[in-house]
Amino acid sequence: CHNSILTGPIETTMCDYETIESVNDELFANLSDLVEKPFFRYFQVDLYRECPFWPDDGSCNDPGCAITTVDESNVPEKWRAKALSELDPASVDKRHSLPGCYYRDSDFCFLDDNTEGEYFDLRLVPERYTGYSGKDAQRVWKSIYEENCFGLSELALMTGKSPAPVSLPDTMIEVLHEDGEESAAQCLEKRVYYKVISGLHASISTHICHEYLNQTTGEWHPNLNCFITRVASHPERLQYIYFDTILLLRAVSRLGPYLSAFDYCSTGTHEDDMETLQTLTKVLNIAEDAGAFDESILFRGENANILKEEFKTHFRNVTRIMDCVGCDKCRLWGKIQTTGLATAMKILFELDETALDPRANSDLLQRSEVVALMNTLFRFSESLKAVETFRKLWREMDDAE
Ligand code: FAD
Repeated sequence: CHNSILTGPIETTMCDYETIESVNDELFANLSDLVEKPFFRYFQVDLYRECPFWPDDGSCNDPGCAITTVDESNVPEKWRAKALSELDPASVDKRHSLPGCYYRDSDFCFLDDNTEGEYFDLRLVPERYTGYSGKDAQRVWKSIYEENCFGLSELALMTGKSPAPVSLPDTMIEVLHEDGEESAAQCLEKRVYYKVISGLHASISTHICHEYLNQTTGEWHPNLNCFITRVASHPERLQYIYFDTILLLRAVSRLGPYLSAFDYCSTGTHEDDMETLQTLTKVLNIAEDAGAFDESILFRGENANILKEEFKTHFRNVTRIMDCVGCDKCRLWGKIQTTGLATAMKILFELDETALDPRANSDLLQRSEVVALMNTLFRFSESLKAVETFRKLWREMDDAE
C-alpha cells in the first residue's frame, strides 16, 4: 500500500498526481450533487441483449447481481423513448444490424438506440461488491484485454463479422495483462488503449473493495486486503485510474460550450434546472483546470488513420462484450462506463472545434452519452476518494503495529 502514494507527472498527460488530488474533493462533491439530478440519474438501456461472442454468459444468481428498473411514468416525459423517437425519426434508419441485436454506431461504441430497453435510476444502483466472479467474470475481462491486440485481428473485426474475439495463446495474454503497456516496442496509441481498459478495471475493483460485503456478518465495509491485492500491489493499475480521470476531465473540458448549451430542463422546478446548470458549470471549471491531456500527440504519424480505425473497432467490440457480463448490476455499470469512455475518446480523437460548436452541431451527442460521460467521471472521482480511505486505513494499521 506504500505504492499507493503517487507523486509527479502522469505519463502521456500534462498533469501530475498532486493536481488531481488537490481538485478531487471539490470535483467529487459537485459530481455527487450533479448525478442526483433527474437529467443525470435516469438511464435507459437494453440490458438483456444476447451475448454476441459466446452462447452462455454464466448468469450470476447472487441476489447482489439483481437490479430494479423504474417505471417509465417516473421518468420526465421528454426523455422517454417515445418522445425521443418522435424528435429524431431518422434514428431507426441509423441503426446497424449486428448479430443478435441492433445498435447505433457512434464512433467508439455501439449505442443503444433509445427506443428499447428499460429505465434505471442510477442513484439506486451503487457500484459495489455483487458476488459476480469466477471463470465467467474472468472470461469477460480476458476478452476485453484480447481486444488490445492491434495488428493481428483487425481484418476480421473491422468487417464486423467476427463471431468472437480472436483467441491468443496464453503467453500473449500474460504479456498484455502484466506488462503489455510498458514495452517500448508498443506504439503510444496501444499503450493508451491498455491504460484506458486497465484503469477502468482498477476503478471497478476499487469500488468492489470499498463497498465489500462481509458474508458472515452481512455488513458492508472497506476491505483493505482486497484493495492491496487487486490494485495497490500493482501500482500501474492505480496510476491508470488517474490517467482515465484526466482523459475524462479533458473531454468534459473540451465539451464545455456544448454541455453548457444542452437542454437539462426536466419536469421539476425552474430552481432545479438552474441548480443542474450551476453545478455543471462548477464541474466544467474544475475540468478546465485539471484536464491536461494532450490528445494531439495521438494518431499522428504514418498509418494514423488505419490505426485510429483499428482503435475504434476494438473499443466498439469492448462495448459489445458488455452484453456478455453475466450480472445485471455489473452489466449496467459496465455499459455506462464503456459508453462514457467511448464518448470521451470520440470528443478527443474524432471531433474538432467546429464539430464541438453547439450552434453548428446541436445534435452532436445523445442524452445517454452525456449522462454516461458525467456518471463515468463520477465513478472515477469516487474511486480516488476510496483510495484516500484505503491510505488512511493503511496508516492506522501501520501505527497500530
Ligand atoms: P478479476 O478482476 O476478474 O481480474 C482477472 C485478471 O485480470 C486478474 O487475475 C489479473 O491478472 C488481471 N487484472 C486485474 N485487474 C487488472 C487491471 N486493473 N489491469 C490489468 N489487469 C488486471 N464484480 C462486483 O462485485 N461488482 C461489480 O460491480 C462488478 N462489475 C463488473 C463489471 C465488468 C464489466 C466485469 C467484466 C466484471 C465485473 N465484476 C464486478 C466482477 C469483477 O470485476 C471481478 O471479475 C471479480 O470480482 C473477480 O475478481 P478476480 O480477483 O478473480 O480478478
